[in-house]
Amino acid sequence: MNLLLASGNAKKASELLAMLEPFGLGVLRPEDVGGLPDVDEDQPTFEGNAAKKARSAAAASGQIALADDSGLCVDALDGAPGIFSARYAGQHGDDEGNNQKLLRAMAQVPEEQRGAHFVCCLCVAKPDGTVLFQTRGEVHGRILHESRGSHGFGYDPLFQIDEPDHPHRGRAMAELQAHEKATISHRGRALQALSQAIAQASPDPFR
Ligand code: IMP
Repeated sequence: MNLLLASGNAKKASELLAMLEPFGLGVLRPEDVGGLPDVDEDQPTFEGNAAKKARSAAAASGQIALADDSGLCVDALDGAPGIFSARYAGQHGDDEGNNQKLLRAMAQVPEEQRGAHFVCCLCVAKPDGTVLFQTRGEVHGRILHESRGSHGFGYDPLFQIDEPDHPHRGRAMAELQAHEKATISHRGRALQALSQAIAQASPDPFR
C-alpha cells in the first residue's frame, strides 16, 4: 500500500518520512506523482488546512494522502503566529525573517509570560474526499531571547522545551538531534496518535 506524503516543505517532509519508515508503507513524494496542485491554506484552523491539503492531494493523485499543517502559538501574542507561522514575516517559509519578527514582538515580554506551544495536525484522506484519520500533537515550551542550537528548522532555535519532568526540559528544540526531536515534537506526537488510530482501525483502511 502506498501513502502519498503531501508536503512541499523539505524539512517537514524529511521528519515525517523518517517517522513513517517503521510503518512499512510505501511512501510517495509529490514528485513521484508528477507534482501536486498548490493549495490555498485559507482555513481558520490547523485541522481545516491539513484536511484541505490531504483531500486535494488525494484527489489529484488518486492515492491515499497524508498532509500536515503546523505552527507555533505564542500565549503573549494571543496565539500568533498560529496558522500564519510559515508567512509571519510576509514571505512564505522565510525562517530567518520569521524568527527576527518573533524576537522583536517578544522583546518586552517578561519571563513568566513567554509560554508557547507548537501544534501539528495530520490528516489522511482518500481520493474520493473521505477523511480517514485526523490527529493533533502539541509540545509546550517558552520563547527564548536569542537563538540556540543548529538542528531542526523554523522556530526551533527560539523554542525552549518546558514540560514538567521531561528529560529534554530546558533544551532548545534546535539543540535536539532529529531522533530526539521526533520523540517530543508536535509532529512526532501527532504521528504517534495516527499510528495508534491506524492500528485500532478495523477493517484495515489501507486495503
Ligand atoms: P505549514 O507548512 O503551513 O504547516 O507551516 C508550518 C510553519 O510552522 C513552518 O514554516 C515553521 O515556520 C513552523 N513550524 C512548523 N513545525 C515546526 C517545527 O517542527 N519547528 C519549527 N517551526 C515549525
